[in-house]
Amino acid sequence: MTGSRKLKAIELADSSYFNIVRSAVECPSKEATGYLFGVLSPKHFIIHNAYPVITAERKNSEVSYGNESAIKRLHNLDRVIRESDSSAPYLVGGYHTHPAPDDGGLSELDDEFVKDEMSKLDMSKWIEILVLIGNKKFKNRREEGESLTSREGRLNVSIRDAPRHGYSMTLSAHLFDVEEGPFKSSSRIALIRTSGRNSK
Ligand SMILES: [Zn+2]
Repeated sequence: MTGSRKLKAIELADSSYFNIVRSAVECPSKEATGYLFGVLSPKHFIIHNAYPVITAERKNSEVSYGNESAIKRLHNLDRVIRESDSSAPYLVGGYHTHPAPDDGGLSELDDEFVKDEMSKLDMSKWIEILVLIGNKKFKNRREEGESLTSREGRLNVSIRDAPRHGYSMTLSAHLFDVEEGPFKSSSRIALIRTSGRNSK
């Protein structure tokens, strides 16, 4: 569990944080998955956009691309966008949820999935954001609201959407980097949220 030497953190900018949270909450008992778009430069890792895969097949402890042709269309579109606008955010990785708030982290299957994606897309780096989500009922009533705290490079999100109901979420970021040698699993890197700019 060590961070990369060159990189200290990845920023979740613009609406990417809220889109990941929305994607997790939409159906909290099933895994969700999506793509991350941003910029990976030697000094800076930024995610500007998180896009949920609409055709994903979502289950309680598994999520997969239900429609491979749909995924191909997304990849082709991304290629065209990059060719026509070199400043546009590009595909930098993905995210998925585990409806298990106390879960440890990425599974071996998760690692295999990312490695397959990277080789299909010929990518040397991939950021995977894992969201652990718990659907909560509380005994004590409290005002609705959202709070975000950061601990050991993870983002802890607590949401009350009703006086006695809410969600707890933990977001962590994992870097897969082929330049670091053949990997058995990823290394976790710090995740921070930045805000205030318009999304692309
Ligand atoms: Zn997983």
